[in-house]
Amino acid sequence: MWSALFPLSLGALIGALIGRFTHPLLSTGMGAFAGLTLALLWFLAQGSRLERWLKSPSPDALSRLRGPWRELGERAYRQLRLREQQASSQEKRLQDFLSAIQASPNGVVLLDEEGKIEWMNQTACDHLGMQIPRDLQQHIVHLVRAPAFTKFFAQERHDKEIQFDAPGTVWGKARHLSLHLHHYGQGKELMLTRDVTALVLADAMRRDFVANVSHEIRTPLTVLAGFVETLQSLPLDARESARYLDLMAVQASRMQTLVADLLTLSQLEGSPAPGALDLVDMQPLLDQIESDAKALSALQAHSESPVHRLVFEAPEVTQVEGSRHELLSAFSNLVSNAVRYTPAGGEVHVRVRRTPEGGMVFSVQDTGPGIAPEHLPRLSERFYRVDRSRSRETGGTGLGLAITKHVIQRHGGSLHIESQLGKGSTFSLQMPASRVR
Ligand code: ADP
Repeated sequence: MWSALFPLSLGALIGALIGRFTHPLLSTGMGAFAGLTLALLWFLAQGSRLERWLKSPSPDALSRLRGPWRELGERAYRQLRLREQQASSQEKRLQDFLSAIQASPNGVVLLDEEGKIEWMNQTACDHLGMQIPRDLQQHIVHLVRAPAFTKFFAQERHDKEIQFDAPGTVWGKARHLSLHLHHYGQGKELMLTRDVTALVLADAMRRDFVANVSHEIRTPLTVLAGFVETLQSLPLDARESARYLDLMAVQASRMQTLVADLLTLSQLEGSPAPGALDLVDMQPLLDQIESDAKALSALQAHSESPVHRLVFEAPEVTQVEGSRHELLSAFSNLVSNAVRYTPAGGEVHVRVRRTPEGGMVFSVQDTGPGIAPEHLPRLSERFYRVDRSRSRETGGTGLGLAITKHVIQRHGGSLHIESQLGKGSTFSLQMPASRVR
């Protein structure tokens, strides 16, 4: 206010002085009036310049303003800069927040009061088969068509989560989602999705596993119980009793083998991978496997000597790093399978080769029945058998290849199976160069 009065008073004063002393036609009052008018016009011109400047404020143009308008302009400019800085720091905070939600492994969808999508992260798009920006502002019920979701969304309260099959697959299996809805703001909803496929599969596997173990144990147990009852109720002579006791011993040993395999599996799963400090000598290991294989071949045919041609080539590798106990069990499983599934007179060929990269391959080739291609991917699943009765007859538990695969993976290697129906199979275990001496 005072700063505005100053130029006007100055204009009036200068006008009055000019009127008083210089111009014969002007009186002091007229000079003051003319000076005041000119000062007012200048003042208004500065004001309209400020108005123009406010439309696109820049510090350079500010220097062209004079008097109180310049001070006003400078104050406005400082406020403007402050607001801009606040707005950009808020924008940055919002972007950081949105990036954090984008990085979340859970899907996040913001719904407005009508259930239309306001915002969603990429994970939600992947989970629910939606797209940004195509599906923004679309009603969620039109996009997520699972009946379980439609019913859940229509409910008044959403205290519990729901689970349903979403579009798409994970590891070749239907994608399973868990979904939560939370109210926020004025009638808006926050929708959270979580991929629970792995949990659901693990749960199904656990149930299958328990069912399989129970089934495997129940069979010999039923047979044993039957024999016990027979021994208790029938007057058997010593020869008959001995025969029954032999059969009971077979069932008991079957259960023992199964429990031993189960314990091995759980130990493998619960212990850290073997370190590289232990060195395993291959030749003595192969010697032991060979003598076990000969004994098994003879036992299978109830003969004195092996009924298969067993060929063990001299190993190209002398030492590997790992657990002797685990490697012996993995290698033995493959050789014992070859002997058990190959009919008498067939051949089992065991090789330990060095790969060009410096790794090692332990392979067992047999001339047995071979395996149809559709079974190959599932052979190392627990309790998966191609021929259940043949496996049982020969004392199999259905866990051998699962153990073998586990062991070789713990040693950084892999299991490979090649087979042709009617021609035979080759099972190989590859170990990386880092474990081979
Ligand atoms: P099992 O104790 O039943 O032998 P494994 O896990 O060792 O269990 O093997 C799984 C299945 O793979 C066997 O039941 C058998 O059907 C098949 N199999 C394994 N090795 C051979 C082989 N050398 N020849 C033919 N089939 C085999």
